[in-house]
Amino acid sequence: MIGLWLVVAMELAAFVAGLTIYLLIRRGHLTLGVLAGQAALMAIIIIMGLLLDVPTAEAPRISHVYLLVVAALGYLNYQREKSYTQLILIGLCLLAFVILGSARLTSPYVVMPEVARTIGTWANAFMATALLAACIHAMQTEFTRKDKYSRDLMAALWNDEFQLVYQPQVDVSQRTIGAEALLRWNSPQRGSVSPVEFIAQAERLGLMIAIGGWVLERGCRTLAEWGTNPDFRHLSLSINVSASQIMHQDFEAFVRDTLAETGANPQHLILELTESVLVTEIELVIAKLNALREMGITIALDDFGTGYSSLSYLRRLPIQQIKIDRSFVQDAVNSPSSASLVKSVVRMSRDLGHNVLAEGVETMEQHDLLAQFGSIQFQGYLYGKPMALADFAQRIDVETQGSA
Ligand code: C2E
Ligand code: CA
Ligand code: CA
Repeated sequence: MIGLWLVVAMELAAFVAGLTIYLLIRRGHLTLGVLAGQAALMAIIIIMGLLLDVPTAEAPRISHVYLLVVAALGYLNYQREKSYTQLILIGLCLLAFVILGSARLTSPYVVMPEVARTIGTWANAFMATALLAACIHAMQTEFTRKDKYSRDLMAALWNDEFQLVYQPQVDVSQRTIGAEALLRWNSPQRGSVSPVEFIAQAERLGLMIAIGGWVLERGCRTLAEWGTNPDFRHLSLSINVSASQIMHQDFEAFVRDTLAETGANPQHLILELTESVLVTEIELVIAKLNALREMGITIALDDFGTGYSSLSYLRRLPIQQIKIDRSFVQDAVNSPSSASLVKSVVRMSRDLGHNVLAEGVETMEQHDLLAQFGSIQFQGYLYGKPMALADFAQRIDVETQGSA
């Protein structure tokens, strides 16, 4: 009798666990939902195996085989998002599988008639094996997809599939003073891929040095061209530099050679770095930045406000420009406290002698508010989206004609 109630209790627990996990995932807690799901499945299988599904003379234990399926699902999830919790869950699953598979524990709650158990053993063995095969197939598909993505990304450099687009930067009167070069991958299979999507993978594959080198070279060529045209000579060009790029031992030499080869004016070159780059090995980074400074290059701190920058540390870095992140800019019009935060960032940066650029400005309201805080520069969809080089040149031509 207790055995039957136990079965009912287990079913109920499974239902409640399933519902909770469903709600977790619906609310956007995917990681938590998946991990909780595995833990619940594992607990249910272990309790089943200990109390209800014990080996008898007629039928062996079978439910523990599902632990292998849970472990395989866990591994798939680990590929999606690496975490210690996931590794521990996989380890526990495998350990429980070994214990339940080897120990001949008995239980007073066995309720199934032996014949039903014998059929159940075959059915469950079949199901669990099929599920395991499906998991392995899913893993294989996932690896092939990743592998193909990586190979395509590597080939992109050779096949000339990268492109730089240029987003205008303007002064308070909305006159163009320069541009930020932004990378695009025009993949024949995937269309135009955003750098947000492929840069992390390129970093993992160790490709960012090569891709970043391409960006720097292409950007410097553009800058050199601008230098030969009186209408373009005043423009600056901002180029993003990734962590692995700057930490590479030959980075400064590479920049120096590229400037020399292309004939670009370093006074008009701005290299943008994010705070995450700067927190590691700060002394080494400072030395590298100083070397770049000596070549005449400007260093900008990108996405200011999204990291952990403390003021003392900001003072130590040889930077000349601060780019206020667009999240700050967009909050500023909605809340007075955000506005005064931006205002004090502008004042502080200027006290430190840095020039300030507000990113992601989309509305005139944002522009007007920011313009009150002092003389800063702007970048955002309000003034222009990232565009092909020819379109950017045309924009400058129109501006020049307008002012002539
Ligand atoms: P970021 O350096 O902060 O670049 C600004 C991003 O914000 C760009 O996205 C730009 O298109 C977008 N943006 C500009 N104005 C607005 C606006 O008014 N509203 C909104 N909602 N967005 C705006 P993109 O081009 O997709 O680049 C994303 C990130 O990829 C960049 O962020 C940068 O961190 C990275 N990245 C781009 N090109 C390169 C590169 O050549 N090298 C490296 N290392 N990173 C790059
Ligand atoms: Ca940037
Ligand atoms: Ca930025």
